[in-house]
Amino acid sequence: MTADAAVRGIRSVDEEGTILVLTDEPHPPYDRPPLSKGLWTGDDEERIWRETGDVGARIRTGCRVESMDREAREVQIRGGERVGYERLLLATGARPRTLNGPAADQVIHFRTLEDFRALRHRVRQGGRLALVGGGFIGCELAGSLIRTSGAESEEYPPPEEMEIHLIYPESLPLERSLPGPFGELLARHLESVGVALHPGWAVSEVGGGPEQLELQVEPAKGTPDAETASLAGDRSRPRPDMPAGFDTVVAGLGVDPRVELAREAGLEVDEGIVVDASLRTADPRVFAAGDVARFPVPFLGGLHRVEHEEHANESGLTAGQAMAGQQVSYEPLPYVYSGVGPLTLEILGLPSPDDQVEAAPPGSPEGVGLARILREGRITGVLIWNRPGRAHRIRRRLLDDDPDPTLDELKQILD
Ligand SMILES: Cc1cc2nc3c(=O)[nH]c(=O)nc-3n(C[C@H](O)[C@H](O)[C@H](O)COP(=O)(O)OP(=O)(O)OC[C@H]3O[C@@H](n4cnc5c(N)ncnc54)[C@H](O)[C@@H]3O)c2cc1C
Repeated sequence: MTADAAVRGIRSVDEEGTILVLTDEPHPPYDRPPLSKGLWTGDDEERIWRETGDVGARIRTGCRVESMDREAREVQIRGGERVGYERLLLATGARPRTLNGPAADQVIHFRTLEDFRALRHRVRQGGRLALVGGGFIGCELAGSLIRTSGAESEEYPPPEEMEIHLIYPESLPLERSLPGPFGELLARHLESVGVALHPGWAVSEVGGGPEQLELQVEPAKGTPDAETASLAGDRSRPRPDMPAGFDTVVAGLGVDPRVELAREAGLEVDEGIVVDASLRTADPRVFAAGDVARFPVPFLGGLHRVEHEEHANESGLTAGQAMAGQQVSYEPLPYVYSGVGPLTLEILGLPSPDDQVEAAPPGSPEGVGLARILREGRITGVLIWNRPGRAHRIRRRLLDDDPDPTLDELKQILD
């Protein structure tokens, strides 16, 4: 996604220059967000393509870059071919964390279009499905798959032929990313639509297969079950009310930035490739943007890495413009959108689970809600749920007019 945006950024400044996109996926650039949302509820797969080639870039798919030589200004592709560059953008994104165990290779570690297609194939056959991880991917897929099976579509099995289990070590979904009441509302919603929730359990190993995968789980640290298990000297065991066998296991365990090209080339890496406000590394010819980049965020102070769509689009565009010689400064207030079934969530800033929360929670998971997130008395973000389309007004307020509006003032913007 970032590479596509960068091509557009370059072309907005330079109509002539040669642009080459190298990707190790078998496809040209596409949008990932629909893979866990709209594609399950009727959106057409054809709409995910970003048509990068139409903007005047050459795209080579199935092409893995193995190393870069900054002195020679070349990258080396698997197989040995070397390709020269004048400016280089590292938009290598992130790779999903993986489960362990003898059958871990049969788990779908959900990230790509191939993963979506593999899961769709399995879901069409019905059966028992485990989603491991209570982050955005696990929750979004749980909401989408349960809708799919309830949609009376001939493509997918009816609800009685499909069981969906969401297994996560935290006590609430999204707890690792967010403070505040939204996780509680989300859990209530998912349960009400028929997703079986298993909070407080971590999957330690995947065995069995190929017909049935078996999950070894252990109680997450800090839960009463963990204390009992450690007293008994027995951590890894099947949980009594969780099925031992699953037809399909999907993991959404978070991602790690793909920094190895940068690291091996001697560029600064600190939980991401370190860049300045023009998305440039210490090498003036090499840029990084999107999920892989760690960049300054003036609103919050310090360097941050963001793994979300708007950042991919905006940082990619800005990096492209910088590569083409324009003076730019990327100073975003990060924004994230997520959808779980009918619920929507928008996040401004980068709230962390330990931040304080001032919230106006709704009575039901489907009601409109708002939370003001604070760290050491200073606003770090705003959460808005079930009121899509208003976040940008709040962002303008935070950036341009008043960096510290009260909860009541924020509510007025939503009304
Ligand atoms: C299922 C799903 C749903 C999502 N939904 C949302 C959402 O609702 N809202 C939101 O804000 N964000 C969402 N995101 C996050 C968003 O998609 C990412 O932030 C975005 O994809 C980042 O784009 P990127 O181009 O930086 O990285 P990526 O999309 O990871 O692209 C990096 C590309 O580089 C390739 N690559 C890496 N290393 C090499 C190499 N050495 N040689 C060649 N190619 C290489 C990779 O194969 C990949 O094609 C979602 C992500 C997923 C997976």
